[in-house]
Amino acid sequence: MTDWHAIAGTVEFRSDAFIDGKPVPAADGRRLPTVDPATGAVLAEIAACGDEDVDRAVASARRAFEDHRWAGTAPGRRKSVLLRLAELIRANAAELAVLDSLDAGKLIGDTSTIDVPGSAAILQWYAETIDKTYGEIAPTARGDLALVSREPLGVVAAVVPWNYPLEMAIWKIAPALAAGNSVVLKPAEESPLSVLRLAELAVEAGLPDGVLNVVPGEGPIAGRALGRHPDVDAVTFTGSTPVGKLFLQYAGQSNMKQVWLECGGKSANVVFADAADLDAVADGVCFGIFTNAGQVCSANSRLLVERAVLPDLLALVAEKAGRIRLGDPLDPRTTMGPLVSAAQAARVLSYIELGHVEGRAILAGGPVEGRPAFVRPAIFEVGPDSRLSREEIFGPVLAVQAFDTEDEAVALANDSIYGLAASVWSDSLRRAHRVAGRLRAGTVSVNTVDALDVTVPFGGFGQSGFGRDLSAHALDKFTALKTTWVNYR
Ligand code: NAD
Repeated sequence: MTDWHAIAGTVEFRSDAFIDGKPVPAADGRRLPTVDPATGAVLAEIAACGDEDVDRAVASARRAFEDHRWAGTAPGRRKSVLLRLAELIRANAAELAVLDSLDAGKLIGDTSTIDVPGSAAILQWYAETIDKTYGEIAPTARGDLALVSREPLGVVAAVVPWNYPLEMAIWKIAPALAAGNSVVLKPAEESPLSVLRLAELAVEAGLPDGVLNVVPGEGPIAGRALGRHPDVDAVTFTGSTPVGKLFLQYAGQSNMKQVWLECGGKSANVVFADAADLDAVADGVCFGIFTNAGQVCSANSRLLVERAVLPDLLALVAEKAGRIRLGDPLDPRTTMGPLVSAAQAARVLSYIELGHVEGRAILAGGPVEGRPAFVRPAIFEVGPDSRLSREEIFGPVLAVQAFDTEDEAVALANDSIYGLAASVWSDSLRRAHRVAGRLRAGTVSVNTVDALDVTVPFGGFGQSGFGRDLSAHALDKFTALKTTWVNYR
């Protein structure tokens, strides 16, 4: 068995920003600690980029774009660089997995089998599109030839959260680079380590200097500077809905850059009594809300159950949730680690306290003595107006409601400002299709939860945002269509 602690003892932490192909400190020398939430230990003091650093990174990305050192390279060559980067991610998988586990408290069993190999696979998938994406010839009259080509936008800023630090970055970087853009990436304050290492690997893979820059720092400083920068052509953002709204303002206050938002969620898991295998449903329910300690944008944080099966299902879910092993994220036997920070845990614990007032506890949840970033999972039966059933908690807290009819189930599921994902459990093909069609969500999973793959688009309706990550559709965000009309009569 891999000794993850031994690897953790040897990994080096990159602590500078990465601009123009090399590590550099912030211009004013400022640094921010990044903390291991499992222990509270400071891992490293990371460059805290300000306006001047963001200017330097954007200028570097702009130079790289204008001299065509990346977009002007033959597609086959660009493909091979990104394929090589995917291979380097695989070759350094243990290190990258440990970095995300230390930095964000994520389970090593997840980072080593999902985040890191998933990142390599997504990069590989987009690399393969580079020499397989064609333009169009429009059906014009004889004597005219109209070519429709996809052009890279220029400088793309990617601002990402901490819940999947490497993978969220790759969701943005891979299609943006595949389309020929230069990128300036801002990781979350809590989790900069893996992407700072990724930037080095990109140079090793042959990505020209300046094509991928990383500016760690605070959201309201470095993130805002990117959002308001006059020379950034597009921002692709994953994070909370309130910050997503700020990026729309930043664009309006500056150069009207394109803004693509992947924001929060309050996804419903709708269980009908005709779903015969309740044990499988209960597994899906637990996976849907307790994976990554509930810190998943598409987490099924609302469970809507047909009244007839509510007691049986809740008994099964509570029994399975009771077996969750909280502990050291580097121990593969642990099934739930800490939240990303003590501050995030305090926020989640305040919802658990509220649950005890507003609802009926199925599983009490709560704090862990002496370990401020850990939260025990909680399940509450609540009413539709409870804050627990309306607000994104981003932790291991499940809000349960009963329903009696299909119409009521659909109405409850759609009664949210969000619309990222939903699940339907039913053994009736007709009902499953009927209900899936009526749910207002970017992804509806039938008889499973959180169906996700690089081949299918991921994104939301309503205040979950409007961008689509993954699949060939993500390339649309990072390209503009251009018409070249030739009159040859
Ligand atoms: P967040 O919005 O606080 O931060 C996201 C990023 O924005 C970070 O890099 C942060 O530094 C930056 N930021 C924060 N304040 C800013 C400001 N004033 N100006 C500019 N940038 C700023 O989100 P988080 O707490 O890191 O992540 C959790 C959120 O992310 C949840 O709401 C979750 O649903 C969402 N999320 C969505 C998806 C999706 O695909 N829809 C995926 C993962 C996470």
